Amino acid sequence: MKKTYIAPNIERNYAGNMNKYGAKSVVRHQDNIDGVPIKEIVEQFGSPVLVLSESVIRRRYRRMQDVMQMHYPNIQQAWSYKTNYLGAVCNIYHQEGSIAEVVSGMEYDMARRLGIPGKDIIFNGPGKRAEDLQKAVKEGARIHIDHLDELYLLEKVARELKIIPNVAIRVNMDTGISPQWSRFGFNYENGEALRAIQRLVSGKAMKLSGLHTHIGTFILDAQAYYYAAKALLDLAQKVKDELHVVLDYIDLGGGFASQNTLLGSYTPGEFASPSIDHYAQAIGDAFNESQFVRDHDPQLVLETGRALIDEAGTMISSVIGKKNLPTGERAIILDAGVNTMITAWWYKLKVTPTRPFPGAYQNTVFYGPLCMNIDVVRNAVPFPDLYTGETVLISPAGAYNNTQWMQFIEYRPPVVLITETGKLELLRAREELSDIIEREFIPEHLRNI
Ligand SMILES: *Cc1c(COP(=O)(O)O)cnc(C)c1O
Repeated sequence: MKKTYIAPNIERNYAGNMNKYGAKSVVRHQDNIDGVPIKEIVEQFGSPVLVLSESVIRRRYRRMQDVMQMHYPNIQQAWSYKTNYLGAVCNIYHQEGSIAEVVSGMEYDMARRLGIPGKDIIFNGPGKRAEDLQKAVKEGARIHIDHLDELYLLEKVARELKIIPNVAIRVNMDTGISPQWSRFGFNYENGEALRAIQRLVSGKAMKLSGLHTHIGTFILDAQAYYYAAKALLDLAQKVKDELHVVLDYIDLGGGFASQNTLLGSYTPGEFASPSIDHYAQAIGDAFNESQFVRDHDPQLVLETGRALIDEAGTMISSVIGKKNLPTGERAIILDAGVNTMITAWWYKLKVTPTRPFPGAYQNTVFYGPLCMNIDVVRNAVPFPDLYTGETVLISPAGAYNNTQWMQFIEYRPPVVLITETGKLELLRAREELSDIIEREFIPEHLRNI
């Protein structure tokens, strides 16, 4: 048996302290997902392929429900469609008891296609059109108002249809995190939110049923949710005292961090990100201190996206080629780039080999297949030598990948679900040319070349 060739390299000795998290960052391999060999998945579906784990999705949903209920029992989760709106994925959440949270007319149609009734759809987003609102009013959706023009438009639509819709006001506030997301909804501190509510109630065309906020995404400070919940509960009390309207629900949006690591963060995500328990504690504290809660037991709605599904997704990708960069770093060219992993622009995604590799580590940059300089999947990380044709796992990849991915110069890869019994189910087929040109037209005079 011929031995594997290992290229010689010179490694610098560093004196000083170990890094805070251990002596050395060992690159461990992983040869399966939920017990299904990577090899088998690639043989069946090719490379790259996005793999989702049904058991991780269900486990994380149930854990969120359980942990939240320990602090406040009256909770309803609403699946954030834009985080991952594959029909099969949404239906896992709906089977678990989640309602739908949508942010556009397109997502609204997606929820209706899955058979979700209007009353179980929360309609968020700053860009609702008149026709979207008409449909949502007729079907009894919970419409969350973002700005005054929308409020006036919705009032008009409701009057024309002679239907009183259930609505909430989206509120933004200072929760101590920066940057503050002040572009969505009405401001709390300057009184704008209360004035919008006064206007809404005096119009008598809609029923104000709740208050909503979504303070941002990947919020690393769990305490921010204490302030968000407190602000909305104080506002609910004021609405009751001044306008004699008692609200049914308080919706705290999404924004919990997954275990991913932000670019520029030294601390890995599994240490930096608060656990579900921390967020639940912060929210529970605000609810348990509130007189409004004691009097009226409002429903707590959560629209968690990222933290529920990110860890359930893994991109399997293959090495197309290797080269040495003039900087002394090694470069690996993968078949999955930022076209399929746009989150690489914000996170230090983890790259994992699928079998053990001998030899010393070298700083390695992972590029994608795009003819575009910014197609970097992972910046220099110490990594063992890989060979052409080898597979690697890129993770976490469950959140905002297959909704934000672009079709730029490549076909988008298939998405496969590993069921709870270890079966492989195709959720979305690999694209082909007909998918890309289906809606194109070539005018008569340009047909012959
Ligand atoms: C995107 C979004 C969510 C989900 O956010 P995550 O950060 O993925 O949890 C929830 N609610 C609204 C209104 C959103 O826009």
